[in-house]
Amino acid sequence: MPEGDTIYRAARALQRALGGKVVTGFDTGLAPLARVNDDAAITGRTIDRVESRGKWLLIHFSGDLILLTHMLMSGSWHLYRTGERWRMARSRMRVVIRTADWEAVAFNVPVAEFHTARSLERYSQIPKLGPDVLSDEFTVETGARRLAAYAAANPDAEIAVVLLNQRVLAGLGNVYKSEVAFSAGVNPFRAMRTITPREMEAMVELSQRYMRSNVLDGSGDSIVTYAGKRRTTHASNRDERLWVYGRQGQECRRCGAAIMMRKQGEQARSTYWCPGCQPWVEASGGVVPGPAPVGSTVISRRRKMSC
Ligand SMILES: [Zn+2]
Repeated sequence: MPEGDTIYRAARALQRALGGKVVTGFDTGLAPLARVNDDAAITGRTIDRVESRGKWLLIHFSGDLILLTHMLMSGSWHLYRTGERWRMARSRMRVVIRTADWEAVAFNVPVAEFHTARSLERYSQIPKLGPDVLSDEFTVETGARRLAAYAAANPDAEIAVVLLNQRVLAGLGNVYKSEVAFSAGVNPFRAMRTITPREMEAMVELSQRYMRSNVLDGSGDSIVTYAGKRRTTHASNRDERLWVYGRQGQECRRCGAAIMMRKQGEQARSTYWCPGCQPWVEASGGVVPGPAPVGSTVISRRRKMSC
């Protein structure tokens, strides 16, 4: 699943290219969108603004119409100069928005809906999102408060599952989840009630820093895809970009221990950690501590890196 920084980058690139421009053409392979276009043509409207909220991308057109898309695992937005060759098959096109100079193409987006400001407000999923780690208003204090409040209500929730919960903090995906927990020295399976305020702050600060730096050094803004390489280690070698994610069985870059992987949470997302740098912390308050979680260090088959 693309992370919030990728969506943010996509929104930023789309905003730069399309913001304030008049739509000269609109195409879609999605019947519900085509119906709206028939009733209230998109062509001729101005693109007021493109923004991201967590993993949602919103394109605001003049006349109170908002195109809401979510990429889930497979979708992407590409931006092409008019006449430029698309890098994906036409059959995967779901939406095309044309202006005088650009074509913005959504490929394979599984969720695409038109909303008015009012229907968007009523829409069940978006208002429930936590604060967006990449928004200008986001602060470490805001984020730490969210984590603390969630911990108070869900003391047994595991920290790495909580980091992925878009209703607590919007934007983090599965790669950063593991990277942030590693950098903060927090074992990803620890219960929320064992996480100290200082650790919460550290994780929020790292989340913001990693996501911002990947937004800043994001190259190739003209073509937006979800293959963008993330970096958290500062190493320039692309194979040394990440601390733990995807590095099961390899040596920890800090202590040399073998990186472990284990599926975690209801959605069984892969969690990577270093048992040396991220020690198991037992629950306090008379709760009998369980043994430290153990993961696999063996790669059973070659997996395509995914997030
Ligand atoms: Zn280590």
